[in-house]
Amino acid sequence: MSNPTATPVASLAAISKTYGEGEMAVTALSDADLSIYPGEILLIEGPSGSGKTTLISILGLLLKPTTGAVFVDGRDVTALHERELPAIRARHFGFVFQGFNLFPALTALENVALAIKMKHPRAKDAELQSRRLLAAVGLETRMHHLPANLSGGQKQRVAIARALGGDPTIILGDEPTAALDTKTALGVMELLRGLATEQGRAVVVVTHDPRLERFADRVARVEDGRVVAVETMRHAA
Ligand code: ADP
Ligand code: MG
Repeated sequence: MSNPTATPVASLAAISKTYGEGEMAVTALSDADLSIYPGEILLIEGPSGSGKTTLISILGLLLKPTTGAVFVDGRDVTALHERELPAIRARHFGFVFQGFNLFPALTALENVALAIKMKHPRAKDAELQSRRLLAAVGLETRMHHLPANLSGGQKQRVAIARALGGDPTIILGDEPTAALDTKTALGVMELLRGLATEQGRAVVVVTHDPRLERFADRVARVEDGRVVAVETMRHAA
């Protein structure tokens, strides 16, 4: 459960983002504030084009805001040089995408191990860590399968195991359940719920799907580039 007295693991302050310049300029976000707390699931909902991907990309340090400040673990990281960001990303963020983004020629185990080695080139136990993570997401009997031989839900579990590599404090998902049927989507959300509740990770999920709200501690609503409301849910699982 989220604890509003806790220190945010990350926050956005007065963020704006404009893509392009002059007549081509598109303002994707204006004056957006959002804080993320350990142990919570925060959903980000809003219509297509409202700025959700831009928001979560700025939060995950994949994209620089035009104005405003990004804090990670209490530190203002807005003005850091590009070369300082990979280490902060690796320490704090794991990413899960709608399309899974697994390497098709690599097994589940190899996909997870490669991600760990990319985050931590000197990691000596990447394979052991990958086995543990895949077991934790219920895939101990599927570790040596290629993505083509896994179901959508299993692929997304591999992607979640990969995101957990390096033990990040925050898991960010951009419509991670959009390609899944309802039952599988709810299973993936249950898994994420466990990571938040049992491991204290902050989980931020962009979604169009109001059925996911039952898993959320809070729901942030984005409209036309603004965070128009942040609701605390009373029925969090
Ligand atoms: P959502 O994820 O809610 O669909 P996005 O954050 O992807 O919204 O997009 C917000 C707005 O910014 C949209 O108008 C979109 O067309 C625009 N946009 C997103 N990415 C770019 C980009 N790389 N260049 C120009 N405009 C973009
Ligand atoms: Mg999007």
